[in-house]
Amino acid sequence: MTTGARRIGILGGTFDPIHRGHLDVADAAIHALTLSRLFVITSNVPPHRPQPLASSYHRFAMVALAVVDRPQWRAADLELRHDAPSFTSRTLDLFHERGYLSSELFFVIGADAFAEIGSWRDYPRILDAAHFAVVSRPGFSVKELPRRLPRLADRMAPPPLDPVPPIDPLIILIDAPTADVSSTAIRAHLARGEDIAGLVPPNVQQHIEHHGLYTSMSPGRRRSDAPRIPAAGRLHGQD
Ligand code: ATP
Ligand code: MG
Repeated sequence: MTTGARRIGILGGTFDPIHRGHLDVADAAIHALTLSRLFVITSNVPPHRPQPLASSYHRFAMVALAVVDRPQWRAADLELRHDAPSFTSRTLDLFHERGYLSSELFFVIGADAFAEIGSWRDYPRILDAAHFAVVSRPGFSVKELPRRLPRLADRMAPPPLDPVPPIDPLIILIDAPTADVSSTAIRAHLARGEDIAGLVPPNVQQHIEHHGLYTSMSPGRRRSDAPRIPAAGRLHGQD
């Protein structure tokens, strides 16, 4: 297999749940960089960090539903197959082990998340493992990054005009609009019983509603699944 023409995007996240903003950020990178494939990788959350509300099974299922009508996109379970917490450096190592070059990989990330890169495992070495395709998030433009991360400003560049990616990994700044939505806001809407139409793909919304995710019930149960014990059937003293 030739490796020269591949441009592979990788979008990692908790996806609790996946939403319109995630799709927009990936679309922006695909468009700006003419990516041929996009892997959407659902993260394992380390035990010492706040846990997602939905199980990794449901989070992955929602990602799989979101990509189903996008031929270039794949839902990847490689981080969930390991009990260990997800570290992007390890994920990128796995891509290298599978024959991908750093210059072929584009790690797609929002500006808010990239601003924290200094705290990531294997920083700064991780910046050599792939290009980082950083996309503005509402309220956090990529234009702020050279000032926020002055030591990395030299490596930052707009999307290359030439379709052949540069050999040395870059931090590519993509200032494109994305939906002003977050998983946190969606969970809050659902906890209050509010409609989330338009914030997530319709089949993801259906999955959330079908399984009663993000309501006050435990994950995987709908309100209507709650046991209803008829008053006459109650055991004496049960109240
Ligand atoms: P939470 O509110 O639970 O943190 P989130 O909406 O931020 O969820 P994540 O799973 O944390 O979603 O984000 C995964 C990646 O997608 C990160 O790189 C994040 O910056 C990016 N991202 C998420 N939403 C947007 C958005 N609306 N615009 C641009 N980037 C986004
Ligand atoms: Mg986030």
